[in-house]
Amino acid sequence: MDKGILAYRNEVIYLQQELVQRTALGPENGGQGEEEKAYFLVDYLNKLGFNPQIYWATDTRVASGKRPNVVARYAGKSSKTLWILSHLDVVPPGDLSLWKSNPYEIVVDGDYIYGRGVEDNHQGIVSSLLVLKRLKELDITPDYSLGLLFVADEETGSKYGLQYLLNQDIFQSDDLFLVPDHGTPEGDSIEIAEKSMFWLKIIVEGKQCHASVPDKGVNSLVASADFILRLEELKNIFPLKNPLFDPARSTFSPTKKEANVENINTIPGKDIFYLDSRVLPEYKLEDVLEEIKKIGQEVEKKRNVNIKYEIVMQEQAAPITPEESEVVTCLKKAIFSVLKKKAKCIGVGGGTVAAFLRRKGFEAAVWSTLLGFAHQPNERSSITNTLNDARVMFKMLFK
Ligand SMILES: [Zn+2]
Repeated sequence: MDKGILAYRNEVIYLQQELVQRTALGPENGGQGEEEKAYFLVDYLNKLGFNPQIYWATDTRVASGKRPNVVARYAGKSSKTLWILSHLDVVPPGDLSLWKSNPYEIVVDGDYIYGRGVEDNHQGIVSSLLVLKRLKELDITPDYSLGLLFVADEETGSKYGLQYLLNQDIFQSDDLFLVPDHGTPEGDSIEIAEKSMFWLKIIVEGKQCHASVPDKGVNSLVASADFILRLEELKNIFPLKNPLFDPARSTFSPTKKEANVENINTIPGKDIFYLDSRVLPEYKLEDVLEEIKKIGQEVEKKRNVNIKYEIVMQEQAAPITPEESEVVTCLKKAIFSVLKKKAKCIGVGGGTVAAFLRRKGFEAAVWSTLLGFAHQPNERSSITNTLNDARVMFKMLFK
């Protein structure tokens, strides 16, 4: 097995330094997009001897009017391509007082590199670049073709990133996708499935009155409380368990509660609360809403209130990438060969960028070895993990 990639420690530091100082924030986060970072990568790839292409998505909210998506390829024996997808954009650093250093300048401390984006998602960018670099150095032809994708707009919806690319004519139906944007410090868990997400606003209307004469009104808070407790029934109505997920069941959690009356001596006439549901892909979200409404009708009857519903977010889970799929099998073998670990497949409780691929019928595995500091102050990543992830990716190219 090729260990040459382990000699690239300085290359990791160089790339992280160049990427971190090129702030790539979407307009939603007050930024100008990913152009500067994309041009750096194009330049770097050109020097390595590649001819990357930029696919520009029009976005009039940024000064240049466009958002970049960089695509680079290395031909293998088969035209079937292993695509490694990472994203250029980062999230803002947040409260600067929580950072021990400038978020846009890296600090190297032993095996760790600190800075905004070093883990999410520069680690994926750098690992995949090292694979290309190594292939070029060895001048060998892998079994699969390799494709690198550096996309815009992952942190704020992917409309100008992966969703845009999926509408271009780039991918073959049997291509494999690896998304190094989620993982554990052990590097042995492969995300292949997601729960559906459903956020519901529930408005309970009673009748306001003075608290000294409660019978003259209808207490919406009491009705809400009754409703919230009855919603616990949902876990019996949707009892399926899927061991890919932790927890293995669907979850239905009342979360936010809006303020009602200002003063203690008023019976509230209107209460608003929210339900966050994470539902196994086996169920349809329409059925969940229907059952919630049935429970609501019981509350309306018993408590003499009126209940309205507003859907805040509804995202039916994408199809699961099967454990037996080519990309997962190939990845498991490579992890075993390089890291000497038996990887397990898991599902997560919310949407990831891989869902866009899965909905289009592609097989996508989300994997990397991450310390878990994404979006946090003093974000850090491990050089060793970056190198080893690259070795796993390299190994995947050879059958
Ligand atoms: Zn990310």
